[in-house]
Amino acid sequence: MSAPAALEAAALERVQEKVAAGERLDAADGLALYESDDLLALGELANLARRLRGGGDEVFFVRNLTLNQTNVCRVKCRFCAFARSARQEGAYTLSPAELADEAKRAYEQEPYNELHLVNGESPHVDFDWYLETVRALREALPSVHLKCYSASEVHHMATLSGLSYEQVLGELKQAGLDSLTGGGAEIFSARVRKLIAPGKEPAEAWLEVNRVAHELGIPSHCTMLYGHVETLAERVDHLLRLRELQDETGGFLAFVPFAVHLENTRLDPELVPATAAEVLRTIAVSRLLLDNVAHIKAYWIAMGLPLAQIALHFGADDVQGTVGREQVFHSAGARTETEQAAGRLVRYIQAAGRVPVERDTLYNELARWEAE
Ligand code: SF4
Repeated sequence: MSAPAALEAAALERVQEKVAAGERLDAADGLALYESDDLLALGELANLARRLRGGGDEVFFVRNLTLNQTNVCRVKCRFCAFARSARQEGAYTLSPAELADEAKRAYEQEPYNELHLVNGESPHVDFDWYLETVRALREALPSVHLKCYSASEVHHMATLSGLSYEQVLGELKQAGLDSLTGGGAEIFSARVRKLIAPGKEPAEAWLEVNRVAHELGIPSHCTMLYGHVETLAERVDHLLRLRELQDETGGFLAFVPFAVHLENTRLDPELVPATAAEVLRTIAVSRLLLDNVAHIKAYWIAMGLPLAQIALHFGADDVQGTVGREQVFHSAGARTETEQAAGRLVRYIQAAGRVPVERDTLYNELARWEAE
């Protein structure tokens, strides 16, 4: 065995011993995992961690609808192909009533349990527009879980209104909001944010919004957007900062890593899209480092169902959902079909040797498909 290969094997062995003993991994372990070329060993380790921490054969999905009320955004992240300025062709902003009508029509055609709503950060609306939207949705869809807005959007609402995070979140909750989405985290490093999203709030603000939400009893989701200008150490740092907040609050329901999509964005055209190996490695490292986040999602919209299926053996236990109407990843070149029928998700999960479980947003079980 060559010296680097021997070192790598020793590092993986050390991690395996820690995982088996239920010990927490540190930044050095995270880097060693990322730098390992032994992809299958990594998958096996992540799977071991998932099982040792109580995971069974279940793979979760939710019947959901994704809507975007406006694509007008002041931020202009370099990786975003979705945002427009107000006067640009294709810019749109729906009123609360228009959005609620659309959501209700979609529900009548195909009922869903979760509405996932994210928007651009429009400077042309006010906080009342958000509150009226949540109230209109709550009235139109009394039984649907309203998973609305990222921590970045909550920060934007606080800026628009002059209210504190606590006041904004308290009013949204009172209007009917059930949980927050996980977007806007990107990579927490200030260096990276300056390069890819200079108009976005600092990491500390994103984390603080989530902390306040959790304290108010509003659960949320967390994400990482990788595969652009970040280093492996910056990815590991991102994961550890999420873990630290989760230690404090326990309010994150699930973690979703996204590889950046490059089409129609303003990122360096020389960038190479993340390979399948990189996507699987990131799922596995996330599962191993995030020992306090119960669910790791293989977001099939971004990676495609075949790869999501393999990710289920690399530590993921959730494929997100039926995701009607997704626009953000599709603007940046994602080729996956949206409005995915639940039946197809079930078949893919079963073919991966796992048990499909339909859940609600809070991971309550709604249906299960046992192997025949
Ligand atoms: S990613 Fe979000 S915040 Fe950034 S430009 Fe796009 S819509 Fe705006």
